[in-house]
Amino acid sequence: MEVPVEHEETLHRLVDIFLQENENINLSAFRTQEHCFVGNVLDSLAALHQLKIENGQLKIIDIGTGGGFPLLPLAICSPQCQFVGLDSTKKKLDAIQRIVDALEIRNVQLLTGRAEEKGRDPQHREQYDIVTARAVAPLNTLLEYCSPFVKPGGTIICWKSLNLDQELQDSLLARAELSCQLSEQIQYELPETFGKRQLLIFEKRTPLSEKYPREVGVPKKKPLI
Ligand code: SAH
Repeated sequence: MEVPVEHEETLHRLVDIFLQENENINLSAFRTQEHCFVGNVLDSLAALHQLKIENGQLKIIDIGTGGGFPLLPLAICSPQCQFVGLDSTKKKLDAIQRIVDALEIRNVQLLTGRAEEKGRDPQHREQYDIVTARAVAPLNTLLEYCSPFVKPGGTIICWKSLNLDQELQDSLLARAELSCQLSEQIQYELPETFGKRQLLIFEKRTPLSEKYPREVGVPKKKPLI
């Protein structure tokens, strides 16, 4: 994984401040500098190449951003893009806001709420070029959270492990209903024991049916299957 030299120092400061916040509020299981840098920062940057390919001043939303991954490393390394981080837990977003302020990151806004609600808000529905999500839900549920935010023709990037056959199989109906076509699976390898992972890249083909997303909680309780 390449780390852009000009942002390396900020990324290391991000880890310092993140670990301080993580002592008070549980944001991540990675508690050492090295684990946090590899497992959170480098893992987030796996999608940087994808952002570069699409190029330009993109609008990007990170669904279920939690402690700010992949949101913050991508925002630091893509200052020309505008980022929104969405999470239902205000306490986590307050922690991210403190990190954003400390590092003077200017291209990040935070949004508290459920994906099922904000995905119906005209300010956010089909407004984004790229939607990202890491460690939020199985694909069928996740695509119902993500698809409402993407412009037709836009992209959804999901961080997943390699062993995904069943989850992919179980997402066939969701992909069809939510107009998400799997266009690429990109494998990458992190150093040390972190090993191999993959990004799934979906292209949203057409505007989303008004049926979606369903009510809060339904995509998780009754995933499209
Ligand atoms: N993306 C981060 C956090 C993963 S934990 C990382 O990879 O480290 C999953 C996060 O998703 C939690 O913070 C949880 O609050 C949020 N989340 C789960 N379902 C959600 C929903 N329907 N709407 C908004 N946030 C949600």
